[in-house]
Amino acid sequence: MSLDEIFALAYRVLSGAGLSRAHAEAVAHTIMVSERDACASHGLHRLPGCVMTIRSGKLSLDAEPKVEDVTPSLVRVDAGYGYSRLAFDRGTPSLVEKARRCGIAAMAINDCFHFSALWPEVEALTDLGLAALAMTPSHAWVAPAGGTRGLLGTNPIAFGWPRSGRHPYVFDFATSAMARSELARRKSEGTPIVEGIGLGPDGTPTTDASAALDGAMLTFGGHKGSALSTMIELMAGPLIGDRTSLASMEFDEDLKLAPCHGELVMAFDPAVMAGGRVDQGTAWAEALFSGFAEQGARLPSERRYAARARTIAEGVSVPRPLHERLLALES
Ligand code: NDP
Repeated sequence: MSLDEIFALAYRVLSGAGLSRAHAEAVAHTIMVSERDACASHGLHRLPGCVMTIRSGKLSLDAEPKVEDVTPSLVRVDAGYGYSRLAFDRGTPSLVEKARRCGIAAMAINDCFHFSALWPEVEALTDLGLAALAMTPSHAWVAPAGGTRGLLGTNPIAFGWPRSGRHPYVFDFATSAMARSELARRKSEGTPIVEGIGLGPDGTPTTDASAALDGAMLTFGGHKGSALSTMIELMAGPLIGDRTSLASMEFDEDLKLAPCHGELVMAFDPAVMAGGRVDQGTAWAEALFSGFAEQGARLPSERRYAARARTIAEGVSVPRPLHERLLALES
């Protein structure tokens, strides 16, 4: 399928399920760019879950995000229980203007349903010459280091650094040791996981993906990942007056929908923060990136950028069973 066809299919499924035009376009775009960058887990594959969330009655189908200018460096967007991406799009012009004026600015998004990868949002800011950080809680599937039960979310964090004339430096990952979708795939294939990914329902280490899904996931990096994940809970939750992953899961009432919580996005303008030293700063940053290539180490997102060049030219292969399932959802 071409990328235009992927967007059109996603849009038809979402709007057919009842999502307003603005939200359907925003979510369809996120799904299209995920397919474009070979991040299939956040592409078309997510549409059945989106339709389930749309039909749940919990998601607002047409919430118009309310943008509030809180301080010279803080913008708040009340997503009104709609999907997150439209709220991000509506608040971004103010975030960018504030970052350019203050050097550093934050956008607090409240009460949004968030299912997607964070890199599309971070890249929207690096495209404008800003460095950016984004983070969200999710659902409480992950045990803290030393614990036995789900308390933290899979809590993704993404960072972006703008590079003139080149793709930005971007990383974006969950703080769980393995993505939940990958655990589910291992369960369906009956493939084991290594120790350190999850705990069984009895709270002991397991190599059985199914037991880890029923028990608890673990963070990457032991106590360090656990602390980073806790920071994300606090910064993208209580700091902005929004839910932790535990509260998001309670809100879900076991409907297994996309998590509903807040998101924190921060933008930094190197032109302001480095001032007259910005050219020297850029040179040092580029020397750092060159050091990766000299050692044969790749930068995060290089796989995505290579996929992007390929799919823009050639389109995307979509598994036939998935395509048929989505066509059935359209009607
Ligand atoms: P991955 O482990 O797939 O990738 C993490 C990052 O590391 C990517 O930026 C990736 O770049 C980079 N990377 C991977 N391998 C290498 C390598 N060998 N050298 C250098 N860099 C590398 O991510 P996760 O499975 O943890 O997360 C997948 C997605 O899920 C994320 O986009 C995240 O935002 C999303 N997510 C969303 C949640 C939500 O509730 N909204 C919850 C949890 C996760 P590249 O892509 O180029 O390989």
